Amino acid sequence: MEYLNRRMKTLRRQPDFNFHPKCEKLNVTHLGFADDLLFFCRGDPISVRMIYECFQEFSKSSGLAANTEKISIYFGGVCREDQEDIMQSLGFTKGELPFRYLGIPLSDKKTSVVQFKPLMDRMLSKITSCTAKFLSYAGRVQLIKSVLFSIQIFWSQVFVLPKKVVQLIESLCRRFLWTGGTEISKKALIAWDRLCHPKSAGGLGLLDIYAWNMAAICKHLWNVCGKKERLWIKWVRAYYIKHGRVWDARVDRASWVVRKILNAKEVFEQAGCNEMQVTQMITFSTKGMYCKIRGEFQKVIWKRLICNNLGAPRWVFILYIAIHERLLTKDRFAKWKHVDDLKCPMCNNEDESINHLFFQYCYSATVWDRILGWQDINRKSMGWHDEMRWVVRYGQEKSDTASMYRLTLAGCLYCIWQERNMKLFQHKRRTSEIL
Ligand SMILES: [Zn+2]
Repeated sequence: MEYLNRRMKTLRRQPDFNFHPKCEKLNVTHLGFADDLLFFCRGDPISVRMIYECFQEFSKSSGLAANTEKISIYFGGVCREDQEDIMQSLGFTKGELPFRYLGIPLSDKKTSVVQFKPLMDRMLSKITSCTAKFLSYAGRVQLIKSVLFSIQIFWSQVFVLPKKVVQLIESLCRRFLWTGGTEISKKALIAWDRLCHPKSAGGLGLLDIYAWNMAAICKHLWNVCGKKERLWIKWVRAYYIKHGRVWDARVDRASWVVRKILNAKEVFEQAGCNEMQVTQMITFSTKGMYCKIRGEFQKVIWKRLICNNLGAPRWVFILYIAIHERLLTKDRFAKWKHVDDLKCPMCNNEDESINHLFFQYCYSATVWDRILGWQDINRKSMGWHDEMRWVVRYGQEKSDTASMYRLTLAGCLYCIWQERNMKLFQHKRRTSEIL
């Protein structure tokens, strides 16, 4: 390799050789990675031939030959005659941009949604697999978290994700959460945006991909400001920043990705950092930036019910929906579709609502009374709104009793909701003792 590097250096000094127009300032003629070699020059037949001869000499002396079938030439802004001339004299095939290199699409334009399709399919294969359909809500949340995690640790570090792609990923995850599939049919019980809030602020702590991607782009800009020895940064500096400040770079003629990175200065400025401060940062935390971009969240008073609940995830999920009063009890269902019978399927006494079902004058009240009694909590069961008021005063503590209360509340809610659905849809019922 050293020989090739030396040989290419002499090429640079020959007057007939022309650099690729965006490589001249840094004298870049070739890049090697693992078994691959990439050569760059202006698209004229003489320069290409000179590179080819250099490589042939290297081949002869080192015994390392290239597999001609795997060689492709990529043109950008070269006229048709020159293209044909070059291909005929060398006998290589013409490659088309974009192509994938090490799994990453390389393109001369902004990567379009279509080009992201294979990547998205891979990312989303988990949630579109047939076993995923049979998961509970809580199981789906876990799966969605793992998809979002792969975006967080890999995709958004490598790419600047177009807004459309972010929206598409989110809508697929959203549909999967509420339907178990990819089709749109059920109404979302809670807005996606809300689910992305931290748990202490009434969300499920799902990743806000858009904000994370912005934070990751900021990290690239931080690198541009400080890590001057890296090749790609030298390149950005040579062509767009020149000798000025990074903040003053003229981006109107840069490629989409470079523009996105250099424009991230606005995000830094909104977070109260100027160029000097960014340059002086010794480390950069993407997570810290993510939190800054998202701003402060107001904590909810019932946060311990969800954050510190030892119950099974599927219990806690139903509790979470109930706290937001989004369980589809008949009264809520009737708001957007006609319901013939509004009576509570558990007791048939009153119309069904969350306040009634948990746990007012219903058969469920006997169950909750017993559980409260067993925990030595001296009160009768009451309606949901009163229960929540009680939670704020007594159920938030760190004590074992409060912790037990949170667990039993989630468990009881889950069982009653299951029982109610069984009664309603399968006409089965169990006695309160069994429950
Ligand atoms: Zn009832």
